[in-house]
Amino acid sequence: MNLIDPKIVLEKKEGVVEIKNYINKLKIVKELYTLGNNTASNICQLVGISLPTVNLLLTDLLEENIVVKEGRGQSQGGRKPDLYGLAPDSFFILGMDLSRYGAKAAVYNTKNEKVTKVKTVKLPLNNEPDTLDRIHEFARDVIQSSGIPDEKVIAVGISMPGLVDSVAGVNHTYLKSGKKSLTAQLEAKFERKVFIENDARAKTLAEFKFGNKNTHKNVLGIFVDWGIGLGIIIDEKLYRGYSGFAGEFSHSPLFDAKEISCSCGKRGCLESVASGGAVVRLAKEAIALDKDSILARLSEGKEENLEPAIVVEAAMAGDQRAISILSDVGLDLGRGIAILIQLLNPELIILGGAIAEANQYITTPIQQALNIYSMAKLREKTSIELSKLGKEVGLRGAIAIVNEHIFEDTIQSH
Ligand SMILES: [Zn+2]
Repeated sequence: MNLIDPKIVLEKKEGVVEIKNYINKLKIVKELYTLGNNTASNICQLVGISLPTVNLLLTDLLEENIVVKEGRGQSQGGRKPDLYGLAPDSFFILGMDLSRYGAKAAVYNTKNEKVTKVKTVKLPLNNEPDTLDRIHEFARDVIQSSGIPDEKVIAVGISMPGLVDSVAGVNHTYLKSGKKSLTAQLEAKFERKVFIENDARAKTLAEFKFGNKNTHKNVLGIFVDWGIGLGIIIDEKLYRGYSGFAGEFSHSPLFDAKEISCSCGKRGCLESVASGGAVVRLAKEAIALDKDSILARLSEGKEENLEPAIVVEAAMAGDQRAISILSDVGLDLGRGIAILIQLLNPELIILGGAIAEANQYITTPIQQALNIYSMAKLREKTSIELSKLGKEVGLRGAIAIVNEHIFEDTIQSH
């Protein structure tokens, strides 16, 4: 069974039964990929085909080494049923995590496990046509050096910043060269399926799927790096909004900070007072006031390219100004989060990104702000947790997006 390009396979197939079997096999593969190991009777319910047919197709898939037996499932009375799962090496996905200044990539197997080292490259995101070529070259290099046969890497997931409309396959902020959609251009270069998503949404989905294993239904992911990314999961589904841009939390006009302009060009945005960018701006002021502080010493030689992580490191080492910067930023961020809680009543808020590394130095002021600004009844039921996936969250996000959508259009079109 060829999983690389179902469309080509389908065009070649002639008989109606043959096509139907192929689509049904694809449905089984999709369920096993998305939900993990399962029994024949559960697969039968999920896919909506009869048990004898499922058994027949599973036998085929076992012979083709796409599916393997993975022990026994829970007994429903009587003998424990066989558990089926995808063979880990039946296909692979390339995950790419693009940020404003660099890219990361690694290959993952059908169990969503990383099978190569994470490679990184300096690759500024912009709208130059050759940036797409550079992304493709980097990806090709990662696949080639993995030793995995090229044709086994069947899709590419890309998590990236910007206003991303993942359905239309367009990023309205970056990589805007060419007449075709970004996804169409990437698919032409990669010669395989490509899925793109806004980074905060991809990361939230990864935390939901892989970090918390679908234990909560209504989840917000807040990722505080230079800006503030928000992903919204409502009833277990990523919420994208009408045009695909839901979650532009960073540019909520919440503050009266007229003197500070935001990266979006407006004033008074949450980002201008409560992001990594704000932390760095405040840290530069603090360094100018006290050149002997821990913060000043850690920043020596890096004043121009000061990163939020250095301020977090200084706070962890006990620098009072760094601690109070994080406290101020946390209070403002908490005020923003209070609005999200009032609006969306989430069960769980996952906090990630460079600023979340500050741990209690940022969660304590956030909690304090929530005590002040949100209603107790709503707040009490919302837990706040730190990201479980850490620095790999962007790559896992790219994989999570592929995991959700792969084979979907082929299945839908039949
Ligand atoms: Zn803004």
